[in-house]
Amino acid sequence: FSNIIEEARLSARALIDYSDNLFNPTIRLGVTGLSRAGKTIFITALVHGLSRGGRFPIFESMATGRIAKARLEPQPDDAVPRFDYEHHLRTLIDDRNWPHSTVDISELRLVVDYQRKNGANRTLTIDIVDYPGEWLLDLPLLNQSYEQWAAESLKLSMQDPRVRLAGEWHAHLATLSPKGRENEQATLTAAKLFTKYLRECRDEQFAMSLLPPGRFLMPGNLAGSPALTFAPLDVPAGGEPPDGTLWAMMRRRFEAYKDVVVRPFFRDHFSRLDRQIVLVDALTAFNAGPEALHDLESALAGILDCFRIGRSSLLNSMFRPKIDRILFAATKADHLHHASHDRLEAILRRLVERAAGRAEYAGAAVDVVALSAVRATREAQVQRGHDRLPSIVGTPIAGETSGGDIFDGETEVATFPGDLPTNLEEIFKAGAFRGLAAGDAEYADYRFLRFRPPHIADRGPDDTILPHIRLDRALQFLIGDKLQ
Ligand code: GDP
Repeated sequence: FSNIIEEARLSARALIDYSDNLFNPTIRLGVTGLSRAGKTIFITALVHGLSRGGRFPIFESMATGRIAKARLEPQPDDAVPRFDYEHHLRTLIDDRNWPHSTVDISELRLVVDYQRKNGANRTLTIDIVDYPGEWLLDLPLLNQSYEQWAAESLKLSMQDPRVRLAGEWHAHLATLSPKGRENEQATLTAAKLFTKYLRECRDEQFAMSLLPPGRFLMPGNLAGSPALTFAPLDVPAGGEPPDGTLWAMMRRRFEAYKDVVVRPFFRDHFSRLDRQIVLVDALTAFNAGPEALHDLESALAGILDCFRIGRSSLLNSMFRPKIDRILFAATKADHLHHASHDRLEAILRRLVERAAGRAEYAGAAVDVVALSAVRATREAQVQRGHDRLPSIVGTPIAGETSGGDIFDGETEVATFPGDLPTNLEEIFKAGAFRGLAAGDAEYADYRFLRFRPPHIADRGPDDTILPHIRLDRALQFLIGDKLQ
């Protein structure tokens, strides 16, 4: 009976969405990516560019002057936090600091007044939905039992480099008796150590991507709740826990996680999206080495699975996404010389193709771009001995260190990013990408420097244009057709 009510509720909502759309064309644009991929910066730059007349030569409706105005309006969903655009923008422009990253879902409504190609004046409403990519990677859990998930998580934690980070959690796990009485304190400790392990795998040095359950890393507003307090036990994959045991308690909470966390997200948010951009920090994965890259590929496969239409019976119509365009974007391209931007794009394309396998997207168009939503560097030729090297120039964040230097956050440096290999197999080979910098030991770790946002000179009310790389191409693919 509750299923019938649920179906009716969803149908009613779909009808409301539909009629809204009839009278007021609206698209829901999902912005996702793993933590620190660049979601917050992307949305801030997108909204700023559209509402303040950014330089977007490839975004046709804007370049030809057909967009009259874009403005923010109150968002439709009362239960979702608002994306704090104004605060993020002030931090970026006035303080020249990067704003706080995405930790929860948030939303922002942008209304665009434009002229159709035939001359008629129209309005397009864009609801931007920002959510952690970690949450998408929870989808496979719906098909798994607690025991299957526990076995898989344990197996994964035995592989390098994960096993080096799992020691403390494994040691605690060895003290637990699954068939012993349920025990809140032991469960709390297990969950804490397991989460710590996941977090360390995520660290820039290892840059692992595939670390479910997603809320353990990105709890949103659920931090500390019982549905997030469980961990894998060493139990047989097909086993049944006796009542009242630690095992039974873990299994109950795993099921609660699926019911109160995973399903509602896919039902209430994901299934309503029309367009999706998936931001990928591929450069950090390259820098961390081949294991990180393999992990990123698995994570991309997991993310692509969520978009696959006509899936197994479990994922019924409630979850069926209506997304018809998906853009994968490699972010922070401003860390590379422009000669490597096409290469970065080609590598991401190969990664996505490999991850996609024989996937069918039933009409969803997939594209790939390398971009920098806010460009923090500029390019220069720097004389080194007899050579003039193509380099990038930026201001490292205060406290960043390199080769014994500690940067003060004010001084610019030139770095030599080297060329990105064109061949994915080459990058997959241990150290291929690092090797490029290693040949230039003196400058090698400049590659890893984080730069401050750019200085925007002579700001006036209409002169806060943020520099970017290929943000306009992303916009053209994501919403260009809706502004014809
Ligand atoms: P989120 O976790 O996906 O919301 O990630 P953010 O948008 O907060 O980005 C994480 C960090 O990546 C920022 O604090 C910046 O240091 C860096 N970053 C993001 N976008 C860019 C970019 O376009 N250029 C540069 N140089 N750094 C960026």
